[in-house]
Amino acid sequence: MTLLPYRRAGRSGLDLSAFSFGLWQKFGTDYAYETQREIVLHAFDLGITHFDNADRYGPPHRAAQQFFGTVLKRDLAPHRDELILSTKAGNPIGPGPYQRGASRKSLLGSLDQSLRDLGTDYVDIFYSHSPDLTTPLDETVSALAAAVQQGKALYAGISNYPADRAHEIAGLLRRAGVPLLVHQPRYSIFDRRPELTGLLEVAEEDGFGLVVYSPLAQGLLTDKYLDGVPAGARAQNSAFLSPDVIDETYRERITGLNKLAAQRGQSLAQLALQWVLRRPEVTSALIGASSTEQLDHNVKALDFAPLTDDELAVVDKYGVH
Ligand code: NDP
Repeated sequence: MTLLPYRRAGRSGLDLSAFSFGLWQKFGTDYAYETQREIVLHAFDLGITHFDNADRYGPPHRAAQQFFGTVLKRDLAPHRDELILSTKAGNPIGPGPYQRGASRKSLLGSLDQSLRDLGTDYVDIFYSHSPDLTTPLDETVSALAAAVQQGKALYAGISNYPADRAHEIAGLLRRAGVPLLVHQPRYSIFDRRPELTGLLEVAEEDGFGLVVYSPLAQGLLTDKYLDGVPAGARAQNSAFLSPDVIDETYRERITGLNKLAAQRGQSLAQLALQWVLRRPEVTSALIGASSTEQLDHNVKALDFAPLTDDELAVVDKYGVH
């Protein structure tokens, strides 16, 4: 196994690979098992040790974890101690009252099922997938802390929490003896919310790391959509990325960013990944991929010179809408 750079998650003792791999899209039963397996094993061969999952991922829900459980059993079991496996609970996975939300019942019930699906005794990181304003924060904290205290998770995480609620839950978790390890927000050249809402400062103050998802804006921050929507691309076949966003304004922005990347001798995908990882608060860039070639290409993002202030200004010119 080659080694990617590792980065410390906040003020914890845990290092994560600079890139993490997520199984949100194209790891359900609608894609070929052998292709999915090849991508996951290739990610591990490249030095990606952190694999991000959730009860929701599929389709159908839970399928991505069941897929990963099969790969773990057949291929990766001897490497369990080298892997950081994450799961999340709380986003809706069905109509029932315990199939959504951040109650103790919902979170811990989902975690037990995820452990069965993954075929492992513990996950490394257990996340509350989204804030739930109808559940007292204390109850969510008690569930995350219980997961760790019962040995079903080694660390606790949150995702999609706004800065103020992240600060509050970080304090509660610290007092419960289970410090918040990581927060998982969306962050990319096209989505600056972690900068604009104070989340980066809260991460630094409270000592948790950021594992940032969709750093390529689901593929929009690559050169693949410059001439339309290629066959098989996510914008063609995903409910989460409409082809309508690929309009004239998008093309102008992407052309400007692509030009900057070319001047630096890298691709736009590599520029976009390097851009999120320029921030010390960001522990890992959480990427997806539909081929091993994309992975090979993307993990080279850190091989280039740091972005200068002038280059960052060009990124802002085209990136901020
Ligand atoms: P990215 O922004 O990295 O998008 C990945 C997609 O972009 C790939 O699947 C591929 O799509 C395309 N792509 C990647 N590299 C290239 C390349 N070099 N050239 C052209 N196209 C490329 O991240 P995701 O949106 O996939 O999110 C990553 C992970 O983050 C998820 O799997 C999940 O684990 C997590 N996540 C968490 C959320 C949360 O609420 N906590 C929400 C969303 C994601 P294709 O080839 O199919 O077009």
